[in-house]
Amino acid sequence: MASKRGVRALNLWICACFCTILWAAMDVLVIEDEAKVVEFISKGLEEEGYTVQVAFNGKQGLDLAKTQRYDIVLLDLMLPEIDGLKVLRNMRAWGINTPVLIITAKNSKEDVVKGLDTGSDDYLTKPFSFEELLARMRALLRRSAARDGHMHRYEDMTLNPYSRILSVGAKEVELTEKEFLIMELLIKNSERPLTRREIAEYVWQNTTDSTNIVDVYINFLRKKIESLTSRKYIQTVRGIGYILKEENDKTI
Ligand code: CA
Repeated sequence: MASKRGVRALNLWICACFCTILWAAMDVLVIEDEAKVVEFISKGLEEEGYTVQVAFNGKQGLDLAKTQRYDIVLLDLMLPEIDGLKVLRNMRAWGINTPVLIITAKNSKEDVVKGLDTGSDDYLTKPFSFEELLARMRALLRRSAARDGHMHRYEDMTLNPYSRILSVGAKEVELTEKEFLIMELLIKNSERPLTRREIAEYVWQNTTDSTNIVDVYINFLRKKIESLTSRKYIQTVRGIGYILKEENDKTI
């Protein structure tokens, strides 16, 4: 029979895996009336781990953009009810600064200029490949974070709070929401030891329960960092917790 501890560890592992899937999601709003395009984009993005919400006309899109927070909006120009440029104009007028990527069959220079002038961040002309769409989306998210000056940095490590992408040099990896929060806390307190309790409070608002989950997530993070560099950044401080500090010869 499995011990209580074993069952607990298994539960924690299942929860961690499940939550990783949930937290990996980045929210995308697709405002597009062409069913085929919607299917192509949604299917591909969902396979990549994005959460996709679709509006089939401009009015619905505007309502969603107004009431919910998205990481990025993909916007068609020729839409029923309210056209794309008007949707964009309204969004910007209301102070919604979510990055917008226009996807449209219109390919005249005039339309490109109009779209960019209205406040779109980039423009993609149909037909496009899915890889190109993904690359444009990533670039846009990186740019918007850099523009807002919200990037977190430590040594040659950069953490983008919009895309939750952690990069070292030219290599990058996407973090889940919880991994991101831990990394954010570590960078804000770089070279200062943090207790497991401090981390649990910051990430899970957890003050009473076990802090073992912190160790589980630190392992996830270390694995992701390993995929970027051979240098070790997160050190264990025995009896205390963890510290973000580039490894040197001495053990902490
Ligand atoms: Ca259309």
